[in-house]
Amino acid sequence: MKLILLGPPGAGKGTQAQRLQDEFGYRQLSTGDMLRAAVASGSELGKQARAIMERGELVPDALMIGLIDGRIGEPDCAAGFILDGFPRTVAQAEALDRMLAQRRTALDHVIEMEVDEAALVARIVGRFTCAKCGTGYHDTFKRPTKEGVCDVCGATEFTRRKDDNEETVRTRMAAYRSQTAPLLPYYAGRKLLRKVDGMAGMDEVYRQLKAVLGRA
Ligand code: AMP
Repeated sequence: MKLILLGPPGAGKGTQAQRLQDEFGYRQLSTGDMLRAAVASGSELGKQARAIMERGELVPDALMIGLIDGRIGEPDCAAGFILDGFPRTVAQAEALDRMLAQRRTALDHVIEMEVDEAALVARIVGRFTCAKCGTGYHDTFKRPTKEGVCDVCGATEFTRRKDDNEETVRTRMAAYRSQTAPLLPYYAGRKLLRKVDGMAGMDEVYRQLKAVLGRA
């Protein structure tokens, strides 16, 4: 199964990709997570990406394409992969087509998570993650059962993304509208585009996704 989840920041791509990975073993490939790891490790890529990410702009296509090419051929992607945050421009989508063609394979689905942009800023600005196991939480929508303690692993340290502040979120939304939204007609033209209601509750979104994948 080769899948792209498309949608603006805060649409829930990461949460849903993680669930699909846990249930079916399709590998979640989040370019945002890869870049954050590169920044944290201080690698050359991290040094180049850091300031761009803090402004909420897009990292150059050539760097992103280099990051994904190769990665999709690794053994952990054998059961399939879910691209979360890639492609984000038409140039990236065209490069992905070439990578897949070279491997004599193709995408199965591109799924748009349709959301109301106005609601997204609140969703994003309140989110935080367990520093140990990565479980996601939200100040309003999903607090840990016991305040300050991760429900999954019991850790007591949490992190917030530096680019999850209101000003940067607005820049990220604008980047989505101008550079990523053109992918919707790109994939619709190839008859690959399906939609789910990203404003529904997490379980309902997941149900709709599985229905699209024929795994309901
Ligand atoms: P995300 O975690 O997907 O919201 O990505 C966080 C940030 O990483 C974005 O705001 C961009 O600066 C950068 N980024 C992630 N994926 C890409 C991509 N495919 N192309 C360009 N920049 C990206």
